[in-house]
Amino acid sequence: MSERSEMSESKLFNPRLNRRQFLGALLAGSAVLATGGLLSPRLTRAAEVAKGPFSLPPLPYAENALDPYISAQTIGFHYGKHHQGYVNKLNELVAGTPLAEQSLEAVIQASAGKADQVAIFNNAAQVWNHTFYWNSLRPKGGGKPDAALAALIDRSFGSHDAFKAEFAKAATGQFGSGWAWLVKEGDRLIVTRTGNADTPIAHGQKPLLTVDVWEHAYYLDYQNRRADYVNALLDNLLNWDFAARNLAG
Ligand code: MN
Repeated sequence: MSERSEMSESKLFNPRLNRRQFLGALLAGSAVLATGGLLSPRLTRAAEVAKGPFSLPPLPYAENALDPYISAQTIGFHYGKHHQGYVNKLNELVAGTPLAEQSLEAVIQASAGKADQVAIFNNAAQVWNHTFYWNSLRPKGGGKPDAALAALIDRSFGSHDAFKAEFAKAATGQFGSGWAWLVKEGDRLIVTRTGNADTPIAHGQKPLLTVDVWEHAYYLDYQNRRADYVNALLDNLLNWDFAARNLAG
């Protein structure tokens, strides 16, 4: 939420409040809400605006666009409940702190490795990772990348099939929840994996693609068959145009 739109909302709420007073009024409104008190419809609307600076990016395709490899039901829960849930929790955690003024990437960098900011890191990284995941997939994806990226994959892994095998091994070998990634490190590509919310951008790596291997990503469609899910994505959904843009960017 930009400051400008927040301020214009504040004018609707009360034209004489400055930003600090406005935020104070919102906190008071939140307190009333928390205690189950009555709120006017106008205050409720302003309080919703103040939930935080981070929002759920639009899904880059329809919820049923990845069917049959990922069902609309899975995407409905994964995007609509899990991803949205991380956004909501992050906004709660940074409310009223300097982090509320930062970019999502800056919040991830600032909170990485800090024992007192684990929840902020986890939720911020999960927001970022999921947005990256949705963009790592597309309908009628899979196949092979453009010539430049294909050459780099050949140089890094030996062949496209060798890359796929290494990626599938990383994705299925991640114990518990986490992510498999294709990242650029130095002048070559490597496959890596992270546990839980961890993300390559906290480790100085440049990710090109990811696959979510938390059970919520595949359990409705594949139950315990994580390898089937990973291979279906490698063969049919990976968005190599997104990877090429990340490589160039
Ligand atoms: Mn997920």
